Amino acid sequence: MDSFMPTEPTENISGGPAGGARSDSFDRAENPATAERVIDRLGELYWEKTYGGQDAFVCLVRTILSQNTTDATSQPAHDALIERYEGPESDLARTLAAADHDELAETIAPAGLQHQKATSIIQAAERITEEFDNATEFDRFVRDTTTATVRETLLEFHGVGPKTADCVLLFAGGQSGVFPVDTHVHRIYRRLGVAPPDADHETVRESLEATIPPKKCGFGHTASIQFGREYCTARQPVCVDDPSACPLFDLCDRVGVETD
Ligand code: SF4
Repeated sequence: MDSFMPTEPTENISGGPAGGARSDSFDRAENPATAERVIDRLGELYWEKTYGGQDAFVCLVRTILSQNTTDATSQPAHDALIERYEGPESDLARTLAAADHDELAETIAPAGLQHQKATSIIQAAERITEEFDNATEFDRFVRDTTTATVRETLLEFHGVGPKTADCVLLFAGGQSGVFPVDTHVHRIYRRLGVAPPDADHETVRESLEATIPPKKCGFGHTASIQFGREYCTARQPVCVDDPSACPLFDLCDRVGVETD
C-alpha cells in the first residue's frame, strides 16, 4: 500500500517512518459524517497508519521541543539532545533530571525558546523520576493506564498542554480515539466547517474525537498536518487561486477563506 503513497516525512512529530507506526487500512462507513469523509480522503492521499510504541519519555521530550516551531527545526534539537544525553546504560529521564540547565538549553537551541523548553524537560524528568522512578516505568504507565488518567497526569507537568499530552498518548501509548490538535488541525477543520469558526483547540479536538472512529484519529492527525503544509496553508490555501487544486474542495465550507 505504501509503495503507491507518499512517505510520511522523517522530520515529523510522529518520528516519521522510524516512529513505530505501521501501515494499516480501515473500513469505510456507508454514510460517513463529513469529518470521517475528510479523514478517509486524506488516508487515500497520504497514508493510513496505526501509531504507538514510541518511548513515552522520548516522545514527551520531542513534543516539548516541537512547541512553537516547525518539525524541521525541532528535529535537529531532538537529535542533538539524544546524542548528548542518551547512553546505553543510562536512563534518559534520570540523566535529564540531573542535567545542567544552560548546557541543555545550548544543546536544544535550534528549536528556539530553549531556556523555557530546557526548564520543561528538566522538570518533567524530575517528576518522572520522583513518581515513576525511571523512563521505563513512565512508559508502562502511558501504555497501560486509561487515556483520561494519563492525560490528566501529563497536563500537570510544567509546559505540557493538551497537544503535547495527546501526542504522547497517541505516539507512545498507541491509544486510539486521541486526535491531537496542533495549529494545522485547528485551522483546517474550522475552514472545512467541521468545527465552529470560533472553536478553540479543545473544542476542535472534542468535535473530531466525537465524530471520527477511534482508530482513524491517529493518521487523521498526521495526514491533516501534511495536508495543512501542502494545500490548506495558513496564508494561501490552494483553493484561493484554483479550487480544483484542493482534493477536499467538495467537502469544504471554506469558512473565513478569502475568495475574491
Ligand atoms: S478548499 Fe481551501 S479552505 Fe478548504 S480544505 Fe481546501 S485549501 Fe483548505
